[in-house]
Amino acid sequence: MKKLFFMFLLVLAVSTVSLAVTIGVIGKSVHPYWAQVEEGVKAAGKALGVDVRFFVPAKEDVPAQLQMLEAFIAQKFDGIAIAPSDPSAVIPTIKKAIQLGIPVITLDTDTPESGRYVYIGTNNYNAGYLAGTVMKELLGGKGKVAIGTGSLTAMNSLERMQGFKDAIAGTNIQVVDVLNDEEDGARAVSLAESVLSAHPDLAAFFGVYAYNGPSQALVVANAGKKDKVKIVCFDTTADILSYVKDGVIQATMGQRPYMMGYLSVTVLYLMKKIGVQNTLTMLPKVTVNNKVDYVIDTGVDVVTPNNLTEYLNEMAKLGIPIKF
Ligand code: BGC
Repeated sequence: MKKLFFMFLLVLAVSTVSLAVTIGVIGKSVHPYWAQVEEGVKAAGKALGVDVRFFVPAKEDVPAQLQMLEAFIAQKFDGIAIAPSDPSAVIPTIKKAIQLGIPVITLDTDTPESGRYVYIGTNNYNAGYLAGTVMKELLGGKGKVAIGTGSLTAMNSLERMQGFKDAIAGTNIQVVDVLNDEEDGARAVSLAESVLSAHPDLAAFFGVYAYNGPSQALVVANAGKKDKVKIVCFDTTADILSYVKDGVIQATMGQRPYMMGYLSVTVLYLMKKIGVQNTLTMLPKVTVNNKVDYVIDTGVDVVTPNNLTEYLNEMAKLGIPIKF
């Protein structure tokens, strides 16, 4: 009798364990931008009753991302979302996960060749193009620009820079340098400092990643060049918004990291509950090179000193928490 009761408890424990859905999300670096993604991940986890695991390496770190991806596969997670720092490096592991029946999607930055089911995030080429258009207007079509980024492999960085360069093509705006700091904030500052002293006539900075804009703003403010050097950048973390408020940053492309996190968990949850194909039929379809693909474009807001308050109100209405 005792033995039977024990078995009953065991079966109960196992079935409870197997009922729980576990979803893993892998980001790119420790940064307030990724903290916003994590907030979205956790909020969705809570709303759906899903066990969520969120991981980011200290800074851009391809081996660390791969290790965590392998660990999530080994632990038989029900779904994985990843923002690959290097789109090629993750292909074999993503393919392996999918073969084992674990759905994989991407957020923030993509790897379309991997066979991942969905990309959730910004249309980075278009957002970069938008940044270039804003820059063109700010500079009246001429001047030297330096670009700061955290990766020369991640697709989002490459696409933003391509979009930016295409938008300023045919003007007298000249890109004098592209500085890669691998998401190391201190290095971003020192690189911005050295480019500003090498080009005293620098007209503007373009900040590709979230910490680039504030690093450039710090350097520009310290050099007393607030009115001479323009800054166009990405994201709306608190540090960026205060530089926007002070007019050191003229415009920033506000992504929606909270939504990226929230939607990633939601889509993977649906894939587990109703199946991958049934979930895909509900998602927005795009055709790339005659092939159907699934992309959720989370949108971009151009935030300037003039519309900052309006932007904050709009985000509050959408239920997107922005700390400022
Ligand atoms: C990018 C992320 C990056 C983050 C922090 C964002 O603009 O979308 O890929 O990790 O900045 O640097």
